[in-house]
Formats: sequence, C-alpha cells, structure tokens
Amino acid sequence: MKDLHGRTIDYMRISITDRCNLRCKYCMPDDIAPIPHEKILRYEEILHVCRLAGELGIRKFKVTGGEPLVRKDCIKFLKYLKGLPTTDQVTLTTNGTLLSEYLPALKDIGLDGINISLDTLNEATFERMTGRPEFSRVMESIIACQASGIRTKINSVLLKGYNKNDFFDLVHLAEIYQVDVRFIEIMPIGYGRQYKGLSRQELLPMLLKKYPDYVPVLEHRGNGPATYIYLPGFKGCIGFIDAIHGKFCSTCNRVRLTADGLLKLCLYYQNGINLKHLLRSGCPDDIIRTALEQTIFRKPTEHQFHLAALEGPAEQRKMSQIGG
Ligand code: SAM
Ligand code: SF4
Repeated sequence: MKDLHGRTIDYMRISITDRCNLRCKYCMPDDIAPIPHEKILRYEEILHVCRLAGELGIRKFKVTGGEPLVRKDCIKFLKYLKGLPTTDQVTLTTNGTLLSEYLPALKDIGLDGINISLDTLNEATFERMTGRPEFSRVMESIIACQASGIRTKINSVLLKGYNKNDFFDLVHLAEIYQVDVRFIEIMPIGYGRQYKGLSRQELLPMLLKKYPDYVPVLEHRGNGPATYIYLPGFKGCIGFIDAIHGKFCSTCNRVRLTADGLLKLCLYYQNGINLKHLLRSGCPDDIIRTALEQTIFRKPTEHQFHLAALEGPAEQRKMSQIGG
C-alpha cells in the first residue's frame, strides 16, 4: 500500500518477544522487567495481523525480538507465517547464540534470510559488550549458516571507545564467508543515547584507504536502506545503514509490530495503533484492516532523532522492546 507521502509500505518488522539472553550495552544492559505473558500477542494473533497486513500489500516480514529464538515455538510460528498465502518473504534477525541448532528446521521451512548481530570478533570484547560469554556460539552459527546455504547478513554496531578497532576484523568476515557485513549507525533510542557511534562518513574513508579498488553496488540488495560497496576478492559486500547521518525516511517502506501489539509507524515516534485491543475485543476483520490501512497511511514524514528533546512524541521504549 502507499502512504500519504506516496511511499510504498510493504515490509513489517515483528517483535515476538521483549526477552533476551544477552545484555548488550546499548540495547538491554540490565534486566528490564519483561512484559507479562498475557500482554504479549499470541502467535495466532500475530498471524492474524500479518494476514490482514498481507491483504494491504505488506508481504515481507522480518521476525525480531528481544531475541526471537528464546520464544517457545518460534520455528513453528515462522513456518505458519511463511505459509500464509499473502506472504512473500520471511527473514529473521537474531543474536546467533541459539541459531545453529535451529538451522536445519529453518532451511526446511524455506526461511528467506537471516541477519546475525555481531559487533566484535574478540571474545573478551564480546563479553564486555553483551554481558555474556557466548562469542563461540555466534561464530558456530555463522559457519553453520554457510553450510546451510541460507542467505546471511551480519549486522554490526560500532561504538567509540568499545569496538571501533574491530571494524576491519568484521569487514574481513565478508572476505572469507558468503555474508554481507553491514555497519549500523547507533540510534539515540533507550540506552543507545549514552553512546557515540561511527557513521558511514567516518568508516568509509578508512575502508577505501585500505581497499582503494572498491566498487559501489548500484543494485538494491534486500528490503532495507543499506547502501553497499564491493571489495575485489570478497565473497560478500560491505553495507552501511546510516539512520542519523544519512536520513533515508523518504524511501522508508516499513512498519513495526511490538510484542505487546502496538503497530509502530516510525522508530522515532511512540504513536501507532494498539492492535491487541482490537484483536481481543473480537473486532471484525474489515474494521481491523481499515484501522491498519488508515493508521499506516498517516506514517510520519520523517524521524526527528537530531532533536535533543526526548519528551513529547519521542519513543520512550528500549530497543529490546521494539526489535531494531
Ligand atoms: N536480538 C536480536 C539481534 O540482536 O539481532 C534482534 C533484536 S536487536 C534489538 C536488532 C538489532 O538492533 C541488532 O542488530 C542490534 O545491534 C540493533 N540495535 C539495538 N539497539 C540499537 C540502537 N540504539 N541503535 C542501532 N541499532 C541498535
Ligand atoms: Fe538482545 Fe539483540 Fe538487544 Fe543484544 S541487541 S540485548 S541480543 S535484543
């Protein structure tokens, strides 16, 4: 469907849980009281939303968390989502700690792609940044993804004073493995506000100095706003997602569904529509579909992350409660 600004909205990120088994510094450094189970959308309710969204043309879904693989029966849910007649594509974003054991099942259901978040290749830095000694399990998953043939991307957030020096190690992953490695600029949401990140403008010159024979990639890879370059001899590409310095709102194609049923229109704003209330009050499908359509139509023009003010309409949830 198109929104008020003529943007095609065809992609939904679905957070199926706010719980996570890591404690990443910029996302969920401490325990956050989890949303009680009864307030989390049941899988049938999420599938109901996805079917109606599919009828409006939103047919690509990214399943996220917290950590999606900590929710019981996540694979079964992915299978049902993939099987909806209105679904074109289902991908998963995960921290990779629990992934390797599920890969055969994910391959069987025809999952279209996996994003693994990894910010360092140094075991000690990993533990410092995620609060847990799980580095080797993430690497095992990346290697297992290679064997499975599922399209895999690595997402990395670089922070000044923490893992800036891991940049070239992470780039190297795209040389030895068939993975795109994307550098995501930290966004001032939740705990992310406390850190200084690195943008494309800072990283690209460093990269080009070392790899002067780079080739810009003009084709669109994936559903997101990443821009890519190819380095000769590499198996995958290097991407940059610059939400702050490279504002891409004019081509934004997405909405988000939180685990407790809020349909969020933009990462920056807390507003949206609470679908859980509609679903649980027995509202007929045509009314829910119209509510979805009218809400999405009014998707905000652009984010305001450059503003220092955090009050007003700005999002107060933590990133683990939104899903990235
Ligand atoms: N647990 C899964 C994972 O880590 O991939 C899925 C949820 S996590 C919130 C999704 C992505 O959001 C991760 O790649 C994480 O690095 C990123 N993220 C978390 N907080 C962020 C922030 N403040 N700015 C930019 N990216 C952030
Ligand atoms: Fe968990 Fe992902 Fe947030 Fe890390 S980034 S705390 S893995 S939800």
